[in-house]
Amino acid sequence: MSKKNTHDEHCSFCGRPASQAGMLASGLNGYICADCARLAQQIFNDAAASQGHPAAPQVQLTDIPTPQEIKTFLDQYVIGQTEAKKVLSVAVYNHYKRLRYNEQHGDKNDVEIEKSNIMLVGETGTGKTLLARTIARMLQVPFCIADATTLTEAGYVGDDVENVLVRLLQAANYNVEACEKGIVFIDEIDKIARKSENTSITRDVSGEGVQQALLKLLEGALVSVPPEGGRKHPEQKLITINTRNILFICGGAFDGIERVIGSRLNTGVIGFNNNESRRRVDRENMLRHVQPMDVKKFGLIPELVGRFPVLTALQPLDREALLSILTEPKNALVKQYKELFKMDDIDLEFAPDALDLVVDRAMEYHLGARGLRSIMESIMTDLMFELPTLKKGSTFTLTRDEAESKLQNKG
Ligand code: ADP
Repeated sequence: MSKKNTHDEHCSFCGRPASQAGMLASGLNGYICADCARLAQQIFNDAAASQGHPAAPQVQLTDIPTPQEIKTFLDQYVIGQTEAKKVLSVAVYNHYKRLRYNEQHGDKNDVEIEKSNIMLVGETGTGKTLLARTIARMLQVPFCIADATTLTEAGYVGDDVENVLVRLLQAANYNVEACEKGIVFIDEIDKIARKSENTSITRDVSGEGVQQALLKLLEGALVSVPPEGGRKHPEQKLITINTRNILFICGGAFDGIERVIGSRLNTGVIGFNNNESRRRVDRENMLRHVQPMDVKKFGLIPELVGRFPVLTALQPLDREALLSILTEPKNALVKQYKELFKMDDIDLEFAPDALDLVVDRAMEYHLGARGLRSIMESIMTDLMFELPTLKKGSTFTLTRDEAESKLQNKG
């Protein structure tokens, strides 16, 4: 398509000349302006939503990355967590191989390869969501996040479990076929325990009921959802989504699971130790041995646990890992701030002990890498406010003293 336009060319759709419509893209027999191209895209999206036809790019099943390629990609964004990355890479590889197998063999397959939904156990801020998001980004499949604690059974106040699919459909730009190959991340799965003393007299709205509803999605079902979300009502147009090939990854902190694992393995006292580093080592060692029966202890029904055949744990992040997270990944905070400063023609440097301070604070907060951003924001906000007044072309070095005083000011 040519991009150069002369004054006598008109958009073949709205009729406006290039002088009014701006750049025109040319086809075999005509031209289109940017406004009409956008409108056409909207029309295709709407049509795709109502008919379920594909309109957006989707994962190429002929070209599935190998587990090693997946892990190498994850390494660019996620620090540490080698074991979880390996397990996840293999599970995702198998999942999309299964999809290809089913596509090639249709109903005439000899072997039924089961879906490998994944459960990630790990403290908050250790990279569970990041892993799931990064995999979806690599595979270019739709991705959405749901918080298990806000979900309720259909018909109750709150977020219907099925609305998770609406979110995935929206992430897929209403392309049903792409949506059906997407990835759903369900956070805080450990918080939907079956409860004995229930607030609702009739049904268990938040605990077991939600687990049962989730089970349906995980098992593979045809689910009709209202495209805009919200409650279903009789006159509403519904879109049917088959969840058979959607990959579910769920994450939870499962607080105290190391004790459950410890008592199962019959190892001595853990958790009754005040020594912080000792506790950390205990947790790390125990987590390696996590088994489905350990997560069941948190009130997850056996059927649900059984639907997550892949179970792996993320390790708590130590100082070294937090420092690497600050500086190394493609989207490392230090790199982002440097880039922001560079746009104002200022070279930003961080004194190593200033970064140590940030890491120390993050360790104190017990929020994993999640604390890093808020600590950095507290330090950098004032600086960025003053940034445009700094001399162009100069270098600014953030010292530990300066970082400390900014943090003190924020209380
Ligand atoms: P959670 O385990 O609670 O799901 P997230 O994946 O949401 O944690 O991580 C919170 C923040 O910390 C994100 O901004 C993410 O970039 C960062 N982060 C957490 N763990 C890691 C890690 N292992 N490597 C790189 N960044 C991480």
